[in-house]
Amino acid sequence: MTAFTKAQYIEEMVATRRKIHQMPEEGWTEFETSWLITERLRSLGLKPLLGLKVINPDAVMGRDPKLVAEAIERAKSHGVPQSFIDETEGYTGVVAVIDTGRPGPVTAFRADMDCVVVSESDSKDHVPTACGFASKHPGFMHACGHDSHSSIALEVCRWLVDHKDELKGKFKVLFQPAEEGVRGGNAMAASGIVDDCDYLIGGHVGTFAKLGEVGLMTGGFLASTKIDVHFHGRPSHAGSDPEKGRSALMAACAAAMMMQGIPRSGEGVTRIAVGKLNAGEGRNVTPVHADMQLEVRGATGEVNEYMVQNVRNIVEGVKRAYEVEGEIVKAGEATTLTVCPDLIDMVEEEAKKIEGVKRTFREDKPAGSEDCTVLIKRVVDHGGKAAYFMFGCNHHGHHRADFEIQDETSMPIGFEVFCRMAKRLNGI
Ligand SMILES: [Zn+2]
Repeated sequence: MTAFTKAQYIEEMVATRRKIHQMPEEGWTEFETSWLITERLRSLGLKPLLGLKVINPDAVMGRDPKLVAEAIERAKSHGVPQSFIDETEGYTGVVAVIDTGRPGPVTAFRADMDCVVVSESDSKDHVPTACGFASKHPGFMHACGHDSHSSIALEVCRWLVDHKDELKGKFKVLFQPAEEGVRGGNAMAASGIVDDCDYLIGGHVGTFAKLGEVGLMTGGFLASTKIDVHFHGRPSHAGSDPEKGRSALMAACAAAMMMQGIPRSGEGVTRIAVGKLNAGEGRNVTPVHADMQLEVRGATGEVNEYMVQNVRNIVEGVKRAYEVEGEIVKAGEATTLTVCPDLIDMVEEEAKKIEGVKRTFREDKPAGSEDCTVLIKRVVDHGGKAAYFMFGCNHHGHHRADFEIQDETSMPIGFEVFCRMAKRLNGI
């Protein structure tokens, strides 16, 4: 078997990206995507790890069994075999292991697989629509570019197999589920899959980087906790005996208002957003149910925890004041970025050598949150090093209906960063 040419890797990864783009799946439901990845890895002669080998169910957050069951049926109707569903044990996530057979470092590369709950633009100016590869799953879209991450990672696996003779040690390529809402990183980290890794590198298309730029994160990711609150009241006739009811809706509204008023910390930036509130049964019934989705963020783990504790206090107080039941469920969690300066220097040096890279830069301004930080922390806690980079595109904004990545020019740069780092860290 002869190795691919650079043009062939690029052609393949663009084709794969356009295929995955058409079948976006939200967090914990990526069965079709996991199947595509698994099949491709097996065709390379690899034995990908699945299910509970890569996911610790005790650390799973924000996984809705109803959505998972629906996704399994949808995947099967699209040709995913039951035998594969069985192998996943109900948990999406794939890890490819490429062992060179020679002693050397264990290097992990991390990609994610999930989409965003956004309806893709049907404008003819939108490239996926114009070129016929827009989402075929209404209401869902790869609007954060994770389709490109998985496709690049697959070609990185092929490159590692093709270039095994020039490499030592072992590689683990992670296809993580449920990055959106920072729900999957913890479960993958807690499986122990990266505990033996000397290095871990994660990348993301776009964000702060424009097309032709590579950015290295030196901070910026906020620690974040996603929280669901369920309030239970007591029903009554709103006209004849309102005093007998206890309104979950009013409790939730009071909690939402109070949460936005949590005094901000002087120790670092904080965020809070009550993003969703569903409550009530009907016009003349004292509302029994209220479901609230919120998130807090903080510049440090401590500041984030301060926000979490205040949210808890408010829920407890509101429960007493409104005489309702209330339950708090953690739906996702990410930490801040652990920074390893020498590995960041190395990634930047390699990025500068890539054809098409016009500029590299470093970034530490408050960004969103990213649960690669949890995998990074796990690696560093076990004595390894990690880095996180951005390969740019001109994207109009993430999580938007017109998100666009110029796949033919942006993806080859991300691909080459990983391949160059494989050689740099594990070259003979
Ligand atoms: Zn993303």
